[in-house]
Amino acid sequence: LAAALPAVFVLALGACGAAGTSGSGSGDGELQIALLLPENKTARYESHDRPAFVERVHEICAECETLVSNADQDAAHQQAQAEAALTNGADVLVLDPVDSRSASVIVRQAHAAGVPVVSYDRLVLDAPVDFHVTFDNEQVGQLQAEVLLAAVGATDGELVVLNGSPTDDNSALFRRGAHSVLDGAGVAVGAEVDVPDWSPDQAQEAMERALTTLGRDRVAGVYAANDGMAGGAIAAMKAAGLDPLPPVTGQDAELAAVRRILTGEQYMTVYKAVRTQAQAAADVAVGLARTGEPPDGLRTDWVDNGHGRVPALMLTPVAVTRDTIAATVVADGFWTVDEICEGL
Ligand code: BGC
Repeated sequence: LAAALPAVFVLALGACGAAGTSGSGSGDGELQIALLLPENKTARYESHDRPAFVERVHEICAECETLVSNADQDAAHQQAQAEAALTNGADVLVLDPVDSRSASVIVRQAHAAGVPVVSYDRLVLDAPVDFHVTFDNEQVGQLQAEVLLAAVGATDGELVVLNGSPTDDNSALFRRGAHSVLDGAGVAVGAEVDVPDWSPDQAQEAMERALTTLGRDRVAGVYAANDGMAGGAIAAMKAAGLDPLPPVTGQDAELAAVRRILTGEQYMTVYKAVRTQAQAAADVAVGLARTGEPPDGLRTDWVDNGHGRVPALMLTPVAVTRDTIAATVVADGFWTVDEICEGL
């Protein structure tokens, strides 16, 4: 085994020698848990998901090693990273797919090697996924739209809707949740765009186009599916000289967004307790690695991914406006007051 592994893993194997546990890949008592993250323009993955996941695995599993990769929004690269993890003896893949559809290939390759797959945050479609750890993503979209409509109030202006990447199944869920609130609410949607790759730059360009098409005085509010895109939309409106800015939504409670909410540039974000999510995924992954079964008591739901019913843990998102920053992101330890204020 050692000969087949890069030096860094051999060193790690030497450091953790617990015997007696079974793993489908390594065969020597060592368990390898791979976390495959999708991109790094959105801060959550490197600032919260990765460290919380790694810390939890090591806390509950002395014989576990973690292998973490980030695909930088490239589905082919993620495929290669998954294959590398399997070659290196991964016993479980925790996969946050760049592309919810094409990632079914990864799940099938993993299963062919006897390796279970946890679909992390984003659902892998049309594949035999073993467990899904996520948030109620339709509720994310509902919260964004409800808070936006309340902030916009009665208006004959129009909304600009910036949805997330079309390759991410979550984008469809956010959009569905948002439209369940926006449709028929009496405020027109003047422009709606699916922004490729969740790109803040492309959100900025889409917002520039919307300002031109609708007229800059016509924009009553902006539904941006996450904070990165909210930042792009706000940059476009500032460059066009809009003052005051209309209400803008977001998601992830990124530090930059929390600061924009405090300074009044962004109206709201959605806080998702990503650390809780990452810890739950670690618990599921370690359970699967040790026994082939997810631990009891974590499943709250089932989701249908087109292949069949997948057991799921669905966590609850929380809307955050200026008035509730202290009671949500700060109270939960997601950001400290010092961290938030440092950049202001
Ligand atoms: C996640 C969001 C994130 C977005 C961009 C979505 O699948 O749920 O938290 O902002 O991807 O990475």
